[in-house]
Amino acid sequence: MVVLQGKSVFGGIAVGKLLFLKKATGQIKRYKVDTPDAEIERFEQAKQIAISQLEELYQKALAEVGEANAMILQVHQMMLEDLDYLDSIKNIITTQGVNAEYAVGVTADNFVQIFSSMEDEYMRERAADIKDISERLIRTLQKEENNIEITEPVIIAAEDLAPSETVQLDKSKILSFVTRKGSVNSHTAILARTMNIPAIIGIGDELLDDFNCKSVIIDGFTGTVYIEPDEKTTDEMLRKKRKDDERKTLLLELKGKENITKSGRKIKLYANIGDPSDIGAVLNNDAGGIGLLRSEFLYMDKQTFPTEEEQFIVYRYIVESMAGKKVIIRTLDIGADKQADYFQLPEEENPAMGYRAIRICLTQKDIFKTQLRALFRASAYGNLSIMFPMIISVEEVHEIKEIIEEVKNELKEVGIDYDQNLELGIMIETPAAAMISDLLAKEVDFFSIGTNDLTQYTTAIDRQNPKLEKFYHPYHPAIFRLIEMTAENAHKNGIWVGICGELAADLSVTERFLQMGIDELSVSPGMVLELRKKVREIE
Ligand code: PEP
Ligand code: MG
Repeated sequence: MVVLQGKSVFGGIAVGKLLFLKKATGQIKRYKVDTPDAEIERFEQAKQIAISQLEELYQKALAEVGEANAMILQVHQMMLEDLDYLDSIKNIITTQGVNAEYAVGVTADNFVQIFSSMEDEYMRERAADIKDISERLIRTLQKEENNIEITEPVIIAAEDLAPSETVQLDKSKILSFVTRKGSVNSHTAILARTMNIPAIIGIGDELLDDFNCKSVIIDGFTGTVYIEPDEKTTDEMLRKKRKDDERKTLLLELKGKENITKSGRKIKLYANIGDPSDIGAVLNNDAGGIGLLRSEFLYMDKQTFPTEEEQFIVYRYIVESMAGKKVIIRTLDIGADKQADYFQLPEEENPAMGYRAIRICLTQKDIFKTQLRALFRASAYGNLSIMFPMIISVEEVHEIKEIIEEVKNELKEVGIDYDQNLELGIMIETPAAAMISDLLAKEVDFFSIGTNDLTQYTTAIDRQNPKLEKFYHPYHPAIFRLIEMTAENAHKNGIWVGICGELAADLSVTERFLQMGIDELSVSPGMVLELRKKVREIE
């Protein structure tokens, strides 16, 4: 048994096999094979695996984003059966006596060239599909497991996980995350909390590649990883897991109960989610609504900008699934640690303080308007509110409102319905916004305090940098003063105020937030009932 220690970002016990996520190297080696027939058989097997993966993804997409958007996954399956494509691969294997990866790579290059030079735009676009299916085949052949191909529930290990990587993971198959690097406030840590699974970061180089496929136990309460645990440890951990499961079952008794203190003060408890697959957890944990939907997921798992229609379908699905409960969708907050290549964001000296979030939206207005149109259209189907990230000035809010007027007028002109009373809010996550919250409160319907960034910018501590964690102070009095000031200014101006940063889930400060008059706390779905329990215990 090997025992490793890291930093816990979410409690819980996980038991399973470790799967190291390797980054695709992109390198395909050419080597001679003794029996080309066996190599063709190896290729055929990879092809079948790829087709069944695509079918699984198709079914998942069908449920999540509808038939029109899922269709491409069926097209990819058909392309994998294309005779010209298959003949080319098999010919290269047989005539040159080489490995299948190489044959797929060469065939892909040739086909991509042919398609790219075609007159017809539709055919030109197929080049990207050829690349896509070929990369899938090569990955399968190289057995470079990546997230999409996880077939059984596993414990994911990685150097670190970027948001663009985590967004692609099939969450239903992940028992836990463990990483060599990472910081407790990173988006990967937030994802683990949203998924309600144990996660440990910062284990360091002792987390060896060699542990791949080994049986492990993760103790998310203490930040300990047991590789090939002995019998005594396994028994002890299973006991701990049973206790934790019992605690979770007890919490379920709080479903349907009010979030009310002993003296009768009520508070709204909503959930933070990263994508539509979290809605089940929101409903199971009896959250009153969604207090923060990070809409970046729509942009990050893609090769190009999501269309208005694609976004509309997803937003409508979310508000409809929540059946009249409030859904607050935050507009695009990309940049800094959340990257998507096709945005072609410039390299910056200080990305966290750079071209990101609302700054991108107010510069590349076409991207912003597409999202707003989709959101307003979806608002006709449920209880939708919109909020804007990284605000620092009243002028920004004025500009946003002007764009919203344009969007509404355009929709009116073509007779598309939207919610006339849709609430607009802003995130208070820069010290500037908190300091002028009296002025901003006159402009919007609500505030949602983003304590993750508010702490980062107030204390000048990069939330991504693990070296700074000893200086990071979530309870710094400056943060509480800013929260209190924001709450006071909100109420003086008759608007409501919530907290959607990670601090909202910290049970040791719930009472302080209630005393400040905070109206809503939005936390990961798995924390809603814990927080309800806490609120109900407060005098
Ligand atoms: C925050 O900054 O507190 C917040 C909720 O937004 P994110 O964590 O997505 O930056
Ligand atoms: Mg933020």
